[in-house]
Amino acid sequence: MSGTDHPFWRQFVPDAAELEDDGLPTDPLAEHEKSPTPAIVHRYPQRVLLLAANSCAAYCRFCTRKRRVGDREYKVSFGEILDGIAYIAERKEINEVIISGGDPLILSDGLLGELLDRLRKIEHVEILRIATRMPAVLPQRFTQALADLLSRYQPLYLTTHFNHPQELTPEAIEACRLLADAGIPLANQTVLLKGVNDDLDTLADLCRQLLRHRVRPYYLHQMDPVAGTGHFRVPLQQGVELIDGLRSRVSGLAVPHYIIDSPGGHGKVELVAENVVARNDENWTLRAPDGSTISVPA
Ligand SMILES: *Cc1c(COP(=O)(O)O)cnc(C)c1O
Ligand code: SF4
Repeated sequence: MSGTDHPFWRQFVPDAAELEDDGLPTDPLAEHEKSPTPAIVHRYPQRVLLLAANSCAAYCRFCTRKRRVGDREYKVSFGEILDGIAYIAERKEINEVIISGGDPLILSDGLLGELLDRLRKIEHVEILRIATRMPAVLPQRFTQALADLLSRYQPLYLTTHFNHPQELTPEAIEACRLLADAGIPLANQTVLLKGVNDDLDTLADLCRQLLRHRVRPYYLHQMDPVAGTGHFRVPLQQGVELIDGLRSRVSGLAVPHYIIDSPGGHGKVELVAENVVARNDENWTLRAPDGSTISVPA
């Protein structure tokens, strides 16, 4: 594949199609409403997102947080991160913190260590998770010093974001090796994208290679319906068929959960038969984890 069809071009180079009015919302998950303090998104009782940075090493055109990521107006200050940590410290029911952004590894090792120190001092926080795209887009970020730093805060999981097997460059593989050797469990999230990874050969190759490099495929995300991303959309039925196809092609360890995030902030729903209440050509009705019923485009 070459030119504008190349998976890197599709993912990172702006496309005029983004400017078409696709009628999609800017904040479909109502994250803004679920944000008690600027750096926190609190949707599930036991776990929170701490948005520790607002920039990235490379900007994905399909980003769910397109409305704010990379925008100077939403720059996260250290004071806001401290407010977020105070929010977590005050709530005993929170046992997991997912450090996200933007990309939290855009922070310096010093600042990151400072943040992790403060979170680790909170007794009720058991699990730390860092969600980052850096292994794919800036693998040089992972030095032995960073791996050593992260390994001091166990249990700490790192979720990567690889969408295409060509992102597993020798440098990216080396970054994963460094982390796995330092004892950091790795899991991957992939966004299902039209013209990038919406075919079985590509997905099977990606999942097999990830597992081989000790990265467990965790979620395949139905792309969130954000304004300016309609040209990446894959129908739900196609996603379900891709997962079915994966089962016969790769190890059970390499089959991710196919997930859709509910509009309006009702949480993630796995696209399995038990959760599909009804469906027609236009919409699927799903059962959300909070017990509500939601409707999503087919
Ligand atoms: C995705 C997400 C989580 C983490 O969900 P897991 O299913 O545990 O990976 C937590 N909080 C929010 C707001 C999320 O969107
Ligand atoms: S790395 Fe993550 S936060 Fe940054 S642009 Fe890509 S999807 Fe959005």
